Amino acid sequence: MSRIEIIQGDITKQAVDAIVNAANTSLLGGGGVDGAIHRAAGPELLAECRTLHGCRTGEAKLTKGYCLPARYVIHTPGPVWHSGDRGEEALLASCYRSCLTLAAEHGCETVDFPSISTGVYHFPLEKASRIAIATIADFLAEHPEIKRVRMVCFDARTKAYYDEALEELT
Ligand code: ADP
Repeated sequence: MSRIEIIQGDITKQAVDAIVNAANTSLLGGGGVDGAIHRAAGPELLAECRTLHGCRTGEAKLTKGYCLPARYVIHTPGPVWHSGDRGEEALLASCYRSCLTLAAEHGCETVDFPSISTGVYHFPLEKASRIAIATIADFLAEHPEIKRVRMVCFDARTKAYYDEALEELT
């Protein structure tokens, strides 16, 4: 699937139609990539997020990008990993699908994701990377209007898992 790319980098620096935020259900900011996105976007992002009244795990909500180079931010709370028996895998797939659905509805052609749930939410990286890549590939097969989806991995170890998952697909 040549419309999927894996890069190592900082998602707040990417000039794409939409970046995805691995948010929490309050949508009021947090640590990790969420904190970085709010810092880079500026206080207007938090002001818009306050009007959204949170978001359920596996669903997604869209805001403007404000001071970010990206036009939109799509916020999705990933599942916290417990032991895998609380629907975590289906919820993670739902995050990727919900974000891409919103992106398509807003005419986005380029979308960048961070590695949802694999930070403080402790989703196992190998499982998470396979779910992410398979879900993105399935969506793109049905949506030619989205031109490119990238996984923007913050570190080399994370990137290696997504590279492997993408290779397994092809
Ligand atoms: P979660 O709560 O969903 O686990 P985290 O923010 O803790 O979210 O981590 C998700 C992933 O985002 C981790 O791989 C983390 O290293 C990565 N990350 C943190 N900051 C950035 C950033 N600026 N750009 C891209 N990825 C980031």
